[in-house]
Parts: sequence; structure tokens; C-alpha cells
Amino acid sequence: MIDADHTPWPDVAAAHRRGAGLAVLPVGAHEQHGPHLPLGTDTATAVEVARRLAERLDAVLLPPVHYGATWGTSGWPGTLSLSAATVTAIVVDLGRALAASGAGGLVVVNGDWGNRAPLLVAAQQLMEEGVLPVVTLDHPGMAEAIDEVRESAPAAPGLAHAEEVETSIMLRLAPDDVHPDRYEACYPVFPSHFGTAPMPLHPFSPSGVFGDPALATAEKGERLLAATVEGCLAVLDDFVAGVLAGRAEAR
Ligand SMILES: [Zn+2]
Repeated sequence: MIDADHTPWPDVAAAHRRGAGLAVLPVGAHEQHGPHLPLGTDTATAVEVARRLAERLDAVLLPPVHYGATWGTSGWPGTLSLSAATVTAIVVDLGRALAASGAGGLVVVNGDWGNRAPLLVAAQQLMEEGVLPVVTLDHPGMAEAIDEVRESAPAAPGLAHAEEVETSIMLRLAPDDVHPDRYEACYPVFPSHFGTAPMPLHPFSPSGVFGDPALATAEKGERLLAATVEGCLAVLDDFVAGVLAGRAEAR
């Protein structure tokens, strides 16, 4: 594994030429995560998953995109959201630059729900233009791990924000950034069409918590992260094989 931000260019160039030559890009967010978790929670999670993936894939770990398309949480001070078009443009530009650098493929590790659509648009554009193979990973495997690990009820199906899940992950990654003395639970009443129409989230939870962080532990956080990395690797099996086959053909 090569951490590109801490490596001279000839070593990165050699890594791009080796094997599948994958580059792993974490895309996070700068977004409110309740009164007890840092704004960089999603970035920290994406970086950790990306780092572990890069190690397992002998890939180049890229520095993260620290901002994301987080329109829904922009009603809380501190959240700094990019437009969806900006997220798409960043990843398209980086994909082109990586192809020019000789990388064999791009693995995007997405840390925030709001980035999903713009990242898919970027991947499609890079594919259509024949720039390089791209896959976007939205923490595959984590939902199943959450079902096994979480002891508190979710605020809504599929929703994990600043509650037991995310607090557990941050207790594992950056315990000094977690403030247990500020834990509070919030179970809002959502309208029936929640999740199907864009809506700002701040009217539903003054604190920014959705669920209950009280039962979070670092051990749960490690189980969630480990399961996510395995989920990513399972998704990547055929992608990596395809990149290797394409490179062999091109030589
Ligand atoms: Zn988050």
C-alpha cells in the first residue's frame, strides 16, 4: 500500500504500473454529527475503510475529499455542503488525472449518503468517456453488520446518523473527539414520505442526533469497520479481475 500524500511521485508511478494499479479515493463530508461527534465523522470513516482496502489491494491511497453534498444537514451551523455538481466534477477531474498518471482503476469509498447520486454520475461519465474503470462503494456490508451490532432502535429504517453506529465508529477511530457527556437521544416523528423526497433535516432534531448513542462502544465500531472492509472486498472481486484482464490485453 502506498499513501500518496506521503510518498514521492516515482513510487506512486511504480504503484500505478503494478498489478491492477488501483487508486482508492475516500470521499467524506464536513457535516454536523450531533453535539458529541466531530464534523469530520464521515470523512474519518471513509478514510479508515479506504486505508484498509488499499492495504489489502496493494493500491494507492489518495488523500480524501473532505467535503460532500450534504444539503439535508445544511440547516445546522458548521455543516459545509458542496453542490452535487461540484462533487461530480471533483471525481471526474481526479479520474482523468489518475488515468493520465497511469492508474489502472479508481475505487471511490463514499462516506456520506448525499454523495451517492453525484458519485454515480461521475462514475458513469468516466465510463462513457473511456477514461478508466471506476467503482463507487457505499459501505457495502455495513447494513448487515449494523443489524448484528446495534442494540438501540434506529430513528428510521436505514438511518444511522450520530447515534450508536456512528458513535461506535468514532470511539474506535478518534476517541478523543467523542464527547460522551453530551450524549442525547432523539427519535423524531417523520412524515410518511421521509426518504423519498428531499427535505432539510434540522426541523426534526435540534441536536442533530437521529437515534441514541448511549450504547456505543469502540468494540462495536471495530466490528462495523471490519465487516465493511470485507463487504467492499467482496464487491471488488470481479472489478479487480476485469481491470487486470483489461491491462493484460492492452500490453
Ligand atoms: Zn455520518
